[in-house]
Amino acid sequence: MNTFSLPFFSPLIASLREITGPDHTLTHGDLSAWQQDCRGRTAGVALAVVRPAHTDQVARVVRACALFLAQHPGCGLGIVPQGGNTGLVQGSTPDGSGRQIVLSLQRLNAVRHVDTANLTMTLEAGCILQTAQECADQAGLLFALSLAAKGSCTVGGNLATNAGGTQVLRYGNARDLCLGLEVVTASGDTWHGLRGLRKDNTGYDLRDLLVGSEGTLGIITAATFKLYPRPASQLCAWGVVPSLPAAVRLLGLAHQQLGAGLTGFELMGQLALGLVARHFADLNVPLWQDGPYCVLLAYSDHRPESVALGVLLECLESALADGCLSNAVMANSLAQAETFWRIRESLPAAQTREGQNIKHDIALPVSQVAQFVQTTDQRLQQTIAGLRMVTFGHLGDGNLHYNVQAPMGVDACQFVLNHEETVNRIVFDAVMALGGSFSAEHGIGSLRVLQLQRYQSPVALGMMQAIKKALDPLHLLNPGRVLLTSHSSHSSHSSYL
Ligand SMILES: Cc1cc2nc3c(=O)[nH]c(=O)nc-3n(C[C@H](O)[C@H](O)[C@H](O)COP(=O)(O)OP(=O)(O)OC[C@H]3O[C@@H](n4cnc5c(N)ncnc54)[C@H](O)[C@@H]3O)c2cc1C
Repeated sequence: MNTFSLPFFSPLIASLREITGPDHTLTHGDLSAWQQDCRGRTAGVALAVVRPAHTDQVARVVRACALFLAQHPGCGLGIVPQGGNTGLVQGSTPDGSGRQIVLSLQRLNAVRHVDTANLTMTLEAGCILQTAQECADQAGLLFALSLAAKGSCTVGGNLATNAGGTQVLRYGNARDLCLGLEVVTASGDTWHGLRGLRKDNTGYDLRDLLVGSEGTLGIITAATFKLYPRPASQLCAWGVVPSLPAAVRLLGLAHQQLGAGLTGFELMGQLALGLVARHFADLNVPLWQDGPYCVLLAYSDHRPESVALGVLLECLESALADGCLSNAVMANSLAQAETFWRIRESLPAAQTREGQNIKHDIALPVSQVAQFVQTTDQRLQQTIAGLRMVTFGHLGDGNLHYNVQAPMGVDACQFVLNHEETVNRIVFDAVMALGGSFSAEHGIGSLRVLQLQRYQSPVALGMMQAIKKALDPLHLLNPGRVLLTSHSSHSSHSSYL
């Protein structure tokens, strides 16, 4: 590895070992859990995996790296922050250069404070999302962020990616739920911004800038989140809709009749549900063969279940009368509601079991979704006959996972290798033409850097570059992610598995 070989970095590794203790700066053994992306598509090589235990150690690690990089400009040292490594855009794993350290936040996992009167909870960045939900629940409150990776993603990673999930419709995404942050900057200073305030107009909003910056502007070490009263009733229904325009009409009707109680509205295409039926036969997917799409509708209410049930039933009855719903089942127990959600959450895994595929995480105005799907399905089929559209997502907030699976009998890996670029171009051009976004909730990472360059306005890109330069002049933090820089080297990309 030319002049900057491993021994060259030995003094830095020795300092990191001193900071974290020898057992928590790893350079040998099986590091694949930190080096491979969660979809198993790429693997990089870490200079070391560094696992600090608290904020002060994070700050000292960053300071040591910043000093080393300042003394050896061009050595390619970078820090890749990592939470649960469930991100889907290759942002949390090192490249192939062997010069990036993975800074794992997993050991910073304490619940620092629950303030039930202020309806806030302060958590360290490595706290697992499900733990946060359980902790709020024990206090009789609701931690409103929820996504299928909740058992392994961390709240720091959720903020770094501005995660969305299944309840954005009612509670917003991670940014909307965050009131304050503690952040280690690229120079190793600590910003103590852990406020629990709902009003605070004191200068530029650094919190909102750091949320969604994917580890490129600072390292989130803790955060204060909003909590909500736990609803007295949480109900869900599973329905079949005759078409996508009908699903959009049903959404409008549900907004009207359920108001703020409508917490989730998920769409699942027949092909997608067919994959769950095939790969998770024990889940007994209801009604999936009865129409082109099913929807999962979640309703919560602060009134008792008997009242809430009446409201939801009335809404479903008017939808049946309108024709935008052909059939529906209500979950009649908590266990059945959980099964409905497990089916929805098994969609990505079922797709993976079916084979490699081309994923898209797009957002559109809800009013444009049906037109987009109709014309883009057609365009894709005209380009590659027989490909299978696995469409599902959070229709309630206009976010679709518009995924493309190889035609039956075609080698999936080869299909992805041969067609990914063409398929992406068709999909993203169509999304942008309808005023949408090519990355709704997963972020940019290293997977979508070129698309950001292509589709974002030059003015916006210029501001982003200026912010990066001001906050991380050495390009130490997550280099090569989000923004294309002169420091991004194509020869050092992770290798495809
Ligand atoms: C089955 C499945 C379902 C999913 N469903 C959804 C969904 O519905 N909605 C959604 O939005 N996402 C979803 N995701 C994607 C993923 O779970 C989210 O992006 C999640 O927020 C990532 O959290 P993490 O802790 O795993 O972060 P990681 O994957 O470790 O990191 C993600 C990014 O954040 C940076 N980062 C991590 N921690 C920090 C930190 N403390 N400070 C600064 N930067 C940091 C990393 O460098 C990287 O760029 C899903 C993933 C899977 C596997």
